[in-house]
Amino acid sequence: MKCSIASDKFRRKFAEQIEEICGERISLCYQCGKCSAGCPVAYAMDYLPSQITRFAQLGLIDKVMKSSTIWICASCQTCSVRCPRGIDLAKVMDALRILAKRKGIVPKEQIAPLFDGIFLGSIEKYGRLNELSLITKLNMASGRPFKDVSLLPIMLKKGKIKLKPQKSNPGKEVRYLMRKVEKLESK
Ligand code: SF4
Ligand code: SF4
Repeated sequence: MKCSIASDKFRRKFAEQIEEICGERISLCYQCGKCSAGCPVAYAMDYLPSQITRFAQLGLIDKVMKSSTIWICASCQTCSVRCPRGIDLAKVMDALRILAKRKGIVPKEQIAPLFDGIFLGSIEKYGRLNELSLITKLNMASGRPFKDVSLLPIMLKKGKIKLKPQKSNPGKEVRYLMRKVEKLESK
């Protein structure tokens, strides 16, 4: 893919946006690669975590925002504890997802943003996760309506999943927190 390095001003602005959201300074990264070497899901990413940091340093916003890496990241924090420069890369990945959502750049083939939305919707509605509703909605939304459907009878039999949603009182507190986070994310 052809891409040109952004101007100094543009690069700084992108780094500042990331820092503003998560408090992490990507300029500290010196490309040792320890984050990538330890990342348990690097094999599934299109770019390694350390490459994403480098692209971000260079202001290559499109390349970063359109990569599968930021959505595949499982927020396990392995990279964060390994980084010799003390960069919490898991937080940087969070910030990049927030920025991608703000800019409306969420690749269609990515399941993670769909999953996040449906998961949070379930928490808001039932006060806890309703697995059956989550799986059904996710399958429908991602165009794979029968994915894993053969497992349903087994899971029902073993009591691992319930047909009737279990509710706990979501209360005002959960909704208050959700609105607060939404407000912070949209800044
Ligand atoms: S937080 Fe994300 S990028 Fe870092 S090691 Fe875990 S999965 Fe990989
Ligand atoms: S471990 Fe830290 S310094 Fe090394 S490449 Fe990753 S982010 Fe950069």
